[in-house]
Amino acid sequence: MVKLLLFDIDGTLMEESPTHTASFNYICQSIYGVQTEIESFPRHGMTDTGILYGLLKKENVEDDQIRNSMKKAFSAMVEYVSANLKPDDYKLLDNVSAVLDKLHNSEYSLGILTGNLQAIASLRLEKSGISSYFVAGGYGDDSRVRSELVNHAIQRFGKSIERENIYLIGDTPLDIRAARDASVNAIGVATGVYKSSDLSGADLVLENFREEKKLFEFLKI
Ligand SMILES: [Mg+2]
Repeated sequence: MVKLLLFDIDGTLMEESPTHTASFNYICQSIYGVQTEIESFPRHGMTDTGILYGLLKKENVEDDQIRNSMKKAFSAMVEYVSANLKPDDYKLLDNVSAVLDKLHNSEYSLGILTGNLQAIASLRLEKSGISSYFVAGGYGDDSRVRSELVNHAIQRFGKSIERENIYLIGDTPLDIRAARDASVNAIGVATGVYKSSDLSGADLVLENFREEKKLFEFLKI
């Protein structure tokens, strides 16, 4: 049977990337001429497209203007992150490598479901040494709406698969809502800014990936 596990990146596989975070202020200033404060913006679980909209709308930038310069802004973001990337930007969370290794040798295929732009996700996964585990992905430049990234991931996966055999793993209530909206299973892991009680809407909640036994039992591995 075809089964697919889709992993969020920030707060799930890795710590949030300080350079990626800083790049929002950089592109808002350099492309839109607007000063923004990404640090205080509640961005966790959002797509890069959604964050950019939210940040600029807060500064009263019009929708049309945001859309018209978005391609240019995201190119500048990729350039900024590529040029400034450091080890803090791809720091794996505890026991992630071991869990991926075990899952990789199971009947599950692994994919990515992240709000990061595809180029930035690829760069960070490559640098952290885990990119070869993942065969498909949905990214922040595919859509502003997180649940829609699931369709993009399935498309790139390229195999016919039942929604009940797809599992989305993430660290925020928005990941769980995306899973529900996309009619796939939800696994919460409380290694981001949210506590496990915030993730109680998931089918399984882990404190962290040290609880691998609980995960493998749930997945029947
Ligand atoms: Mg996350």
